[in-house]
Amino acid sequence: MSTLSRVIRPPATALAVLVALVLVVSACAGDRPSFSVAEPVVAETAAEVDAEQVATSGERSGETATTVPATPSSLPTPTTLAGRPVQSTIVPSLFPDISDQLPQLPSDGVARALITPTGVVADVISTVDGGFLILTPCGREAVVSSGQVLSGAHVVIDAGHGGTEPGAVGPQGVQESHVNLAIAQRLESLLEAAGITVVQTRTDDYRISILSRTAIATSLAPQAFISIHHNAAPDGPSGRPGAETYYQAEDPESKRLAGLIFEEALASFEEIDIEWAGDTDAGVKYRKGESGADYYGILRRSAGVPATLTELLYLTNPPEEALLVTPAFQQVEAEAIGRAVVRFLTTEDPGSGFVEAYPRSAPAGGGGGTGNCEDPAFE
Ligand SMILES: [Zn+2]
Repeated sequence: MSTLSRVIRPPATALAVLVALVLVVSACAGDRPSFSVAEPVVAETAAEVDAEQVATSGERSGETATTVPATPSSLPTPTTLAGRPVQSTIVPSLFPDISDQLPQLPSDGVARALITPTGVVADVISTVDGGFLILTPCGREAVVSSGQVLSGAHVVIDAGHGGTEPGAVGPQGVQESHVNLAIAQRLESLLEAAGITVVQTRTDDYRISILSRTAIATSLAPQAFISIHHNAAPDGPSGRPGAETYYQAEDPESKRLAGLIFEEALASFEEIDIEWAGDTDAGVKYRKGESGADYYGILRRSAGVPATLTELLYLTNPPEEALLVTPAFQQVEAEAIGRAVVRFLTTEDPGSGFVEAYPRSAPAGGGGGTGNCEDPAFE
């Protein structure tokens, strides 16, 4: 544990700030977008669809229910949350301001991405008469007349799944997409309090393709790209948290980022007394596809940007599902990732937990493609 991480670790006596958790974020209903929509810019050949579908996330196939039960109104209340009351949280100001240690972001005013008037983030393909040509969440081209121009970012956060793709679903019906977004938003608040410029790929409960997620990341060229997921189908019960982080096999900075997130997560989670689940090779690892490139599209398509795919808990394990719906635990996980990001940006710490993954042939959870995708409204 580095000095820095000790300094920024919040005190055990958490301030009792009540957080109104909106676990089920509002669906992207409303008026249809008022612009012309072209066909997806990526041809959906069988190979392309297959590549997208096997490359979404770190969960295994079978994680995704085809029918999604409603989020339950009550789940067992965890008795131990590292000593914290379950409704407490930590004020973001406890994170140090590291803005003077960060690289300057581009000040050229070039629109590399855009936050549309409805809050949707999109990659900008070019500036055109009447506005911006964007790559929509579904991977189509569209023109949006206005929005907040994004020229760069220090960190891009990617909340996995969304909309009609819930990702893993817990035994009580909790959807991974909702948990991922709640934690991503808490992480954003913590990092911004530290002076870090953050962009989210997904800002509400809508579908977004791997193509569009990674286009935002590669256009903004951040120091770190973090895709937040939660796992399914563990090998079995585990005496310790079954946290996993995946990195880009050929990128040492991606490996360091994944190692630091794992290190911080494990340090936090080990204080929590529940029946954990995990794979026998839980830890920090990579997975390559048959071509030799990174198997997961979120890591392969973001090549050049240090990226990691985090699978820190098993949503399909009942005690972990119960944890994941509590605001207090969501804050614990966000803080762990946040501390790791601050260390990644300000130290040479290598991280820990690196393992040799056992060979996997089963496909990962599906989704992430552009087929049958409905874009949210942009303006
Ligand atoms: Zn996932």
